Amino acid sequence: MKILVTGGAGFIGSAVVRQAITAGHQVVNLDALTYAACLENVASVADDPGYTFEKVDIRDRVGVARVFATRAPDAVMHLAAESHVDRSIDGPGAFIDTNVTGTFNLLEAARAYWLARGRPAGFRFHHISTDEVYGSLGAAGKFTEDTPYDPRSPYSASKAASDHLVRAWGETYGLPVLVTNCSNNYGPFHFPEKLIPVVILKALAGQPIPVYGDGSNVRDWLFVEDHADALLTVLARGQVGRTYNIGGENEARNIDLVRLICTTLDRLHPQTAPHDRLITFVTDRPGHDQRYAIDPTRIRTELGWRPSVTLEQGIAQTVAWYLKNEAWWRPLLARDGVGNRLGVAS
Ligand code: NAD
Repeated sequence: MKILVTGGAGFIGSAVVRQAITAGHQVVNLDALTYAACLENVASVADDPGYTFEKVDIRDRVGVARVFATRAPDAVMHLAAESHVDRSIDGPGAFIDTNVTGTFNLLEAARAYWLARGRPAGFRFHHISTDEVYGSLGAAGKFTEDTPYDPRSPYSASKAASDHLVRAWGETYGLPVLVTNCSNNYGPFHFPEKLIPVVILKALAGQPIPVYGDGSNVRDWLFVEDHADALLTVLARGQVGRTYNIGGENEARNIDLVRLICTTLDRLHPQTAPHDRLITFVTDRPGHDQRYAIDPTRIRTELGWRPSVTLEQGIAQTVAWYLKNEAWWRPLLARDGVGNRLGVAS
């Protein structure tokens, strides 16, 4: 298959690109290379004859249409997005432009291309979204694919809007769409403004490790390589028009996750131990969702997919990767906004 991956220079998109190339697919990586992008993430496959890169912004409808016409993909995996909740609080406009209008542009380009080619039955438009569209849970319950949407941040609202557009293009125009909503990802190549790399890098630097609020917020953590594997499984075998929730089966309170990272670092990097002395509680994020949890029954029973690593295993791999790859993360600390507390403007 020739897969057009949008956002393939980002964290999850690059894992998809690497796995797709390794599995023998051709990949067209379409990415605008925003502050969150890093082409080093795909350096291991960039010389593969099946890999091509297109520096295109999904807000550019003409540019997107050109890529469909010239590259002729068999499927689209759409991951390009503004993805950081804290940035969406300070500047929601970019989230509407890219996540909503950009997705609309991509859908229109895909529809025109699919119609022009005589509606090939195997074509797929796979939209990658988040469990944050479902809102916030209390102590009990889990998100299923039928949970009503209740987004509460500008980021999750923009992703919810894009999910609705994709389903509407499936229902109204018959475009063969797939939607996946996943929980929080972590792993190698995670941009150093997100919780897990922030904790690792602050701890290594001997700086305060910021924990929002009282640290009681609960997330379900999904190792990025497991997620990429799930996405390729859904693309290959998912039922057209269907939504699949993808979770890591690894729920943890933020404070417990931070402590796990600290004890893992104590073991792998004893020079700077103990690391938990650096834990510092800071002002909470406005509208901070209390708990997310995924019910993975559908993807498990219908597609036979389950995550392969526990949180302890995934964190150990991730911490070891950051210890080995300072040349990757060090320059990223100088990018716009990284290292600053964002999202408290409101
Ligand atoms: P990321 O921020 O690491 O990467 C996003 C990529 O999209 C970057 O390479 C960036 O350059 C590109 N991009 C942004 N705006 C663009 C535009 N206008 N045109 C073209 N390219 C553009 O994001 P990620 O964490 O890899 O997330 C990928 C997708 O998965 C997103 O759609 C996100 O909403 C979703 N998601 C992420 C998580 C998570 O935990 N990271 C969880 C659930 C869902």
